[in-house]
Amino acid sequence: MKKRPGVPQSRFRMTPQRAEILRLLEGNTSHPSAEEIYRGVHRKFPRISFATVYNTLQSLFRKGELLEIRIDPKRSRFDPSTAPHAHLMCVKCGTIADVRRPAKLKPLGKPAGFKVLSCNVEFYGVCPACAGKAAPKEAAKCQKRTRK
Ligand code: ZN
Ligand code: MN
Repeated sequence: MKKRPGVPQSRFRMTPQRAEILRLLEGNTSHPSAEEIYRGVHRKFPRISFATVYNTLQSLFRKGELLEIRIDPKRSRFDPSTAPHAHLMCVKCGTIADVRRPAKLKPLGKPAGFKVLSCNVEFYGVCPACAGKAAPKEAAKCQKRTRK
């Protein structure tokens, strides 16, 4: 996703707390949750509330400064890398890795009159650290869930 142009910069006040959130996210490839980001900011600003951190993440998202990733069914995860890429999540530990994807993906046919605006690619798997511990049943759970 490209940065959305035309959003007035003046509406976003740069407070030390916001700067710290941006600093924590800069180059961060771990796709942290809002709770993890809150714990990081809280170390430097013990009086900051979770709501402030969460609202800041939402306004950064609206500005196109970060992505909100929905691959983890338990919680939103955040990504400062807004270039087109896909994600691969470990179903055991929740680690999310970046993976490359074709720049343009098209559906194979679509309902008449529909215009496609965006596309989200999510992969699920087991990371190398968990592969040793993973019972074969666990790894297959994800695919079997819909057949129950
Ligand atoms: Zn794992
Ligand atoms: Mn990513």
